[in-house]
Amino acid sequence: MGVQYSAFKDIDINDFDAVVVGSGFAGSVTARQLAERAGMRVLIIEKRPHIGGNMYDEKDEAGILVHRYGPHIFHTNDQRAFNYLRQFSGWRAYQHHVLADWFGTYLPVPFNKNSMEIAFGEERAAHLNQKLVDTFGDERKVTINALREQDDPELAEIADFVYKNVFLFYTQKQWGLTPEEVDPSVTARVPVFISRDDRYFQDAYQGMPMEGYTALFENMLDFPGIEVCLNTEAESVFELEFADDAEDAPLTAIKLHGVPFEGPIVYTGPLDELFLARFGRLPYRSLDFVYETYDEEYKLPCGTVNFTVTEDYTRITEFKHLTGQKSDKTTIMKEYSRAYENPEEQIPYYAIINPANHAHYERYRKLTEALPNFHPLGRLAEYRYYNMDNIVGLALDLSDKLIAEATAAEGA
Ligand code: FAD
Ligand code: UDP
Repeated sequence: MGVQYSAFKDIDINDFDAVVVGSGFAGSVTARQLAERAGMRVLIIEKRPHIGGNMYDEKDEAGILVHRYGPHIFHTNDQRAFNYLRQFSGWRAYQHHVLADWFGTYLPVPFNKNSMEIAFGEERAAHLNQKLVDTFGDERKVTINALREQDDPELAEIADFVYKNVFLFYTQKQWGLTPEEVDPSVTARVPVFISRDDRYFQDAYQGMPMEGYTALFENMLDFPGIEVCLNTEAESVFELEFADDAEDAPLTAIKLHGVPFEGPIVYTGPLDELFLARFGRLPYRSLDFVYETYDEEYKLPCGTVNFTVTEDYTRITEFKHLTGQKSDKTTIMKEYSRAYENPEEQIPYYAIINPANHAHYERYRKLTEALPNFHPLGRLAEYRYYNMDNIVGLALDLSDKLIAEATAAEGA
């Protein structure tokens, strides 16, 4: 059958039981669950010209499968999320490796016992690695912040090295902030690992969809009752009704084509965008991607190289390592992090987590509280730093809840 696409102007909203904004994992998993498990007819509204959100991939001119919105590697300890996705794609076993380019020498990231040997030489590294083991235990992960709090001069020396050579410049490029200024949860994603394990992630389930993410999303959304309107912005087709004219007045209804929609509305875009930034724009970081294709089989020794002490891009990804694709050409992608200043041209990729931004976000979220059928979900709508597996888990939870509510309402 294939995914059903329609133009929003041709939609009769009375034909639908649920509306989902966005077709990333948050929107697509919810739509599929509502359609498959509860027989709901689900309308997906997506502003981009394609499905798949930030996971979207496609072949470039050289025939190399590339990710268009940043490199995406699936990894999780959530068996339910992984099993759910396995219905829609075969999976290629892939363990992601990242190297830091340290003035032309490669150091494994997260910084580990092997990195220590390259940075400090074998003999001294043996001593320093033992010191880490004695202090924190073997096979343990220690955040850079925790390491920097240590008084012991040798631990302080390790902390200082890792801070200066792995975190400082990269974080400044990525966030426009120092590691002290970003939320501790951000650098905690890449702790020092007292181990010989060079993998970027240690999760139980890791891999890449065999035919790519776009093919996975096509299978997920190819289901009776799901209809997708591409190139459609929620804010241009939602008519929002408020309790009164006050700036903080709660949202009381959403109309589509003039009809108040009473079924579940799952919104996975940025909340400030929906409310036309009435309290000012929420801060995000955006990215620019620059692709280069070479007549060589491989350009890099592994999937991603982080530039932690030089260059103005943060990292380079070579997709063939991730996808396993065979070709005598290769495409790499450089990532440049930018301030998010122009919503017409830029994409909000990363929420900037801090208490002030959270309070700002909460003002928007509060507007939606009085509308029980409105459900903000996902990395943008919740203003959180979620990985794909978190989102799949949350979408499964929300759809369980919505299905239970619908079943209870039918029984009443
Ligand atoms: P998205 O994928 O962003 O989907 C939201 C969708 O909503 C988009 O299609 C968007 O066009 C649409 N939309 C937004 N606003 C509107 C609107 N107003 N009207 C209509 N449609 C709208 N996670 C991992 O697990 N592993 C990784 O390796 C990884 N790498 C990443 C690399 C980068 C550079 C980034 C930025 C993220 C990465 N992530 C990774 C995180 C991953 O992208 C997110 O967890 C995932 O995209 C969240 O899914 P989502 O559906 O919430 O959001
Ligand atoms: N980070 C760093 N150097 C590295 C890798 C990560 O400073 O070589 C910091 C940086 O602040 C980054 C954060 O750790 O934003 C989280 O890194 P991760 O690789 O998880 O970022 P993502 O893949 O989500 O962009």
